[in-house]
Amino acid sequence: MNIRHNALMRNVEIHPTKLGRLASLLSPDRAFQLGQTAERARLLFAGHTMWNINATAQGGGVAELLTGLLAYGRGAGVDTRWLVLDADPEFFSLTKRIHNNIHGVPGDGGPLGSAERRRYEAVLASNLTELTRQVRPGDVVLLHDPQTAGLIEGLRGRGAHVIWRSHIGRDESNDYTERGWEFLRPYVEPADGFIFSRRKFVPDWLSDRTTQIIPPSIDPFSAKNLDLDDARVRAVLVRAGLVANSEPVGDLSFVRRDGTAGLVRKHENLLLDGAPPPPADARLVVQVSRWDRLKDMAGVLRGFTDRLPEMPADTHLMLVGPAVEGVSDDPEGAEVLAECAEMWQQLPDHARDRTHLAALPMDDVDENAHLVNALQRHAYLVVQKSLVEGFGLTVTEAMWKARPVIASAIGGIQDQITDGQDGLLLDDPTDLDQFAHTLIQALTDEDLAAQIGAAARARVQDRFLGDRHLSQYGKLLVALVSADR
Ligand code: UDP
Repeated sequence: MNIRHNALMRNVEIHPTKLGRLASLLSPDRAFQLGQTAERARLLFAGHTMWNINATAQGGGVAELLTGLLAYGRGAGVDTRWLVLDADPEFFSLTKRIHNNIHGVPGDGGPLGSAERRRYEAVLASNLTELTRQVRPGDVVLLHDPQTAGLIEGLRGRGAHVIWRSHIGRDESNDYTERGWEFLRPYVEPADGFIFSRRKFVPDWLSDRTTQIIPPSIDPFSAKNLDLDDARVRAVLVRAGLVANSEPVGDLSFVRRDGTAGLVRKHENLLLDGAPPPPADARLVVQVSRWDRLKDMAGVLRGFTDRLPEMPADTHLMLVGPAVEGVSDDPEGAEVLAECAEMWQQLPDHARDRTHLAALPMDDVDENAHLVNALQRHAYLVVQKSLVEGFGLTVTEAMWKARPVIASAIGGIQDQITDGQDGLLLDDPTDLDQFAHTLIQALTDEDLAAQIGAAARARVQDRFLGDRHLSQYGKLLVALVSADR
């Protein structure tokens, strides 16, 4: 085994966002509470740093969450920093296996034995060497997901307060979840506190430990979620070649996370095989996901095309994911995209004309976010037919845009959608008939779709903005850190 000694962790730049911006969307009471949270955090962190460590700066929900939340942390005057692990593809294959196991599936079916432990520990030991040069006693380190759990003990030895946050989990355990947790348990247990997205995700052996349930949130002012008018949405999508038939007449600019302006580039080949984009007036059903089997992009394609004659004639399906070379911690991406592409190629011509696979470039993450924003807004209906889901930020993102969402009644999605009120839930995500039936219902009953979309936006306003998240962080940190000082 190639043991590495020098890790070079990436320091992700955080661009501070003033809390006043978020407060502008809140009731006076909530805005006041947010101010109080910030004040307490400043006191708690005086002279100390709040570190966040995860596996990637882009692609997927954790990177999305950290981008927004840490900007507000900095804006609140807390010395907040974000580091990304330095690891090789072999490490990420192993941690993807653990991720899949925790989600109750075999993944690549490989072992989690002593050789895997040695590999896992060696990579994290080299990262720890670098961390111990930066993290000081009394700092707080928030470690995200299985990739980072092996750092806990070493960082505690350095005198830091260490919280481990799991963004993944499964409602009912099975042999795979047991196996995944058995691997992680010795690394996870030494942490001072734990965060999970749902109570059901907490393993039994952590039940008497300091654990806080904190679901994710979105940043309404990020390029991903900022309000865009229809003309702008249309212009962006035409320019990027994702929608046909009209000139890009609207504003093509977007604001980057560092505050500078960007312009949407002309893209020639975002759709698979250079296939023609859907007409501008088609009603789009959209699923945005990483190319991960548990997102079941293939099932969405199958469910839509199997019942195509019953789908209203003006509807098209678009499956949207990142260009696969852009997400370094997800080795499955290329394989899953290839499987979906193969399935699409096998479709008859008329079904291929109504379905589109888009791989959005990741070389410019702000443009990528702006494109996703425009697609989610352009969508008539958003789907998230995952087979397992820790939370599913794409659901909240679409709900914020007042889109009706059809999603699986699993994991964190159940905390976001109240069936029939602010979204439609699928009891059994593997049941393609139920999926198609629900789709047809929402596509034909326009009043229902509009009513659900409006309620969805209100739900996010109420539960899934950053102030709730920051105040939950605040409570956990006060409990852990002040007890110790
Ligand atoms: N996403 C993106 N570009 C893509 C595909 C996904 O920006 O091409 C984003 C998506 O908008 C969301 C995140 O990646 O913010 C996915 O988070 P989610 O919690 O839904 O799933 P995860 O990938 O963490 O399993």
